[in-house]
Amino acid sequence: MKKISLIFTLVFAFYVNPGFSQSKDPIVENIVKEATENSQLEKLAHELMDVIGPRLVGSPQMQQAHEWAVGKYKGWNITAKNEKWGEWRGWERGVSHIDMVAPRVKSLEGMQLAWSPGTAGKTVTADVIILADVADSTSFQKWLPSVKGKFVMISMNQPTGRPDYNWQEFGTKESFEKMKKDRDAQTEAWTNRLKKTGYTTRTLPVALEKAGAAGVVMSYWSKGFGANKIFGAYTKMVPTIDISLEDYGLLYRLSESGHTPKISVRADAKETGVSQTFNTIGEIKGTEKPNEYVILSAHFDSWDGGTGATDNGTGTIVMMEAMRILKKVYPNPKRTILAGHWGSEEQGLNGSRAFVEDHPEIIQNIQAVFNQDNGTGRVVNLSGQGFLNSYEYLSRWLTKVPEAIKTPIESKFPGAPGAGGSDFASFVAAGAPAFSLSSLNWSYGTYTWHTNRDTYDKIVFDDVRSNAILAAIMAYQASEDPAKTSREKSILPVNAKGEPGAWPEQRKPTRRGGLD
Ligand SMILES: [Zn+2]
Repeated sequence: MKKISLIFTLVFAFYVNPGFSQSKDPIVENIVKEATENSQLEKLAHELMDVIGPRLVGSPQMQQAHEWAVGKYKGWNITAKNEKWGEWRGWERGVSHIDMVAPRVKSLEGMQLAWSPGTAGKTVTADVIILADVADSTSFQKWLPSVKGKFVMISMNQPTGRPDYNWQEFGTKESFEKMKKDRDAQTEAWTNRLKKTGYTTRTLPVALEKAGAAGVVMSYWSKGFGANKIFGAYTKMVPTIDISLEDYGLLYRLSESGHTPKISVRADAKETGVSQTFNTIGEIKGTEKPNEYVILSAHFDSWDGGTGATDNGTGTIVMMEAMRILKKVYPNPKRTILAGHWGSEEQGLNGSRAFVEDHPEIIQNIQAVFNQDNGTGRVVNLSGQGFLNSYEYLSRWLTKVPEAIKTPIESKFPGAPGAGGSDFASFVAAGAPAFSLSSLNWSYGTYTWHTNRDTYDKIVFDDVRSNAILAAIMAYQASEDPAKTSREKSILPVNAKGEPGAWPEQRKPTRRGGLD
């Protein structure tokens, strides 16, 4: 009887706690314990996403976020500073109110794009018209004066507001195929309509405002219910607004059927002059090899249609939480552990490229960089980024990670060097071993990436907690490793032209952005 129950207990213990049974390392155990029992993730997410809000480069909220992060680190007794790397056009988003006032009244879901000019404290009411389908650019010039005093719709009206996965589930095969075929034809026709104006998507809004349009109206549907992508405006005098698929379709159909919809737009936006741009750097100084570095990396800026919760609020709080935990349970690392919260990743990895350019002494002595920037999901992919011997040290460090977190991670060695996509690429280009902790997607591309739906409620805290544990353990292991990591590059496969594959080149940051 006793024997049986002992066997039962052992089996039970293995199944209940498979992840932690192999690790007898007290630091690893304390990392897991602190992350699990004293998580600060929800609080950090609330303060950053809800209280401060989105973090557009050059905006006052970006600046607030930098100050907040330094304050948090100081509260955890971690050295931190904001390091200036450039300047950007300063702009602050105010309210966007958009209402249809004819042929009936309806408040519309929409907002001005980033950097859009406002309506100077007024509400502008005007007819909405559709971009004309003209024969060529000469006919377009003839049509242009008719936009005077009107809001002009420049996006295609989507034939369906249902995502494809919804059609897949409920539509007949025939109707789904027919819809896709029609949509492809319509998309091609719309691309041609734009082309025939003689302008590009960048220059058309400017031509419209020069011709006296009251504003530019668009809808960048993200192919999911309720989700639109919100980027920057090209207009310099009149607002550019994005309207939800549903409301855009409504205006479009009314205009097409001759019911001449009218909208009222109030957009407040403040130009705040030249803004300084920063990276926030947190530091836990190394005791044995203070001049060698492990970097926990995540961009800090975001687009501002939502609050940048999964791009890259989650990466940000993962690294902050990992730093907090490390300071508590591993306060005297062998190597220096830095947290890099980069500015202006969204405009071309600018903050991290500037850091790489400004700190050759750090770059030469990097043990490893771990970057996280593709959503809230638990990490499921890890590539060696083309570093020939990365398998050896990454796999060794991973052995310390609890099974439940480690097992789902598919690794690829030596992999290929990433030329972009996020900040690890800035380091890879400089030959420093930098890796991307790549997440399970949670419909990232459709629903949250650069959308108006990228908000606190999309955060999956259990996954984020796993990532904080992973980041902390990998930083701990990279710091402890007796050997310096190899940065030997693998031979890259020949390209399509038969030339040898080339390592990505280090690129210059834009240090002065949006300022003419
Ligand atoms: Zn991002």
